[in-house]
Amino acid sequence: MLRPALLAVSRSARTRALVEATPLTRPVVDRFVAGAALDDAIRATRELVAGGCHVTVDHLGEDVADARDADATVDAYLRLLATVRDAGLADRAEVSVKLSAVGQFLPRDGEKIALDNARRICEAAAAAGTTVTLDMEDHTTTDATLGILRDLRVDFPWVGAVLQAYLRRTEGDCRDLATAGSRVRLCKGAYREPASVAFQRRHEVDASYVRCLKVLMRGPGYPMVASHDPRLVAIAEHLAGDAGREPGSYEFQMLHGVRPREQRRIAARGHTMRVYLPYGDAWYGYFMRRLAERPANVVFFLRSLAGT
Ligand code: FAD
Repeated sequence: MLRPALLAVSRSARTRALVEATPLTRPVVDRFVAGAALDDAIRATRELVAGGCHVTVDHLGEDVADARDADATVDAYLRLLATVRDAGLADRAEVSVKLSAVGQFLPRDGEKIALDNARRICEAAAAAGTTVTLDMEDHTTTDATLGILRDLRVDFPWVGAVLQAYLRRTEGDCRDLATAGSRVRLCKGAYREPASVAFQRRHEVDASYVRCLKVLMRGPGYPMVASHDPRLVAIAEHLAGDAGREPGSYEFQMLHGVRPREQRRIAARGHTMRVYLPYGDAWYGYFMRRLAERPANVVFFLRSLAGT
């Protein structure tokens, strides 16, 4: 009950204004978000790298309704990538990008604007010596996002995609994307989706995740196992072994602030562990999805609001 309600308000401007205006929200947000400024992201990246992890940095923002906001997002990524390069972090840190933050939903030519903007970010990533992964948003964007991915990969074959195991279509998408050099981040999926397109029960989503993992691990691509679920992490290692994969031919990924000790443990076992690190002011949608994932986060959040 709580998850759909939180995901519904994650797109409500009124609730957004309320939550953002509450100063006590901040300490809870800080668990998941590096900070507002680029310096915060770089500092947190250095700390994660010192702990043996790799990083994918996300400049927070989504659903921009104005081309100038999309341009501002691109500029933020260009500054981020230049700073990553200058700080000598390009072999450890890449970026994750939401196409809706670079214009995908703009009423006129949104898809073209998003492609052009994503291309500018990819050019900057190539110049910095690192990579880009396209986040996946709700199911209404899946085909368009995979279309933009295909276009980008003509010039930048290292661009990564995210696939969401809760979507019924995803096992097929895994087959299409399990090709040489293809970087695919497999996650469960974080949006509110109808039963017509998405599995609704936890065990169905987990079973789909395992089917998708099998396809990715047996293929010639580069699977990125994005989950905090200990069972799925163990299954991924097992499937990788069955497929004759060594650590380094696939990687694990988790979110900043979620199971940090486990992140360091997995890295210490010789795996690539990449942490998804968001920074910036537009944290509301991201934060509400993190609350929806775990009821205990809501209790933690409400307690902090009550000042206890
Ligand atoms: P769950 O069954 O949800 O969680 C397993 C365990 O992990 C929980 O029992 C708990 O101990 C811990 N845990 C999980 N979430 C939290 C949390 N928020 N707070 C505290 N503990 C938690 N989704 C998309 O739809 N599109 C994307 O582009 C996308 N990118 C992602 C990138 C990365 C690197 C990761 C790790 C996730 C991404 N997600 C994305 C989110 C993903 O879809 C899931 O919603 C999220 O990872 C929770 O699923 P889980 O596999 O960890 O399993």
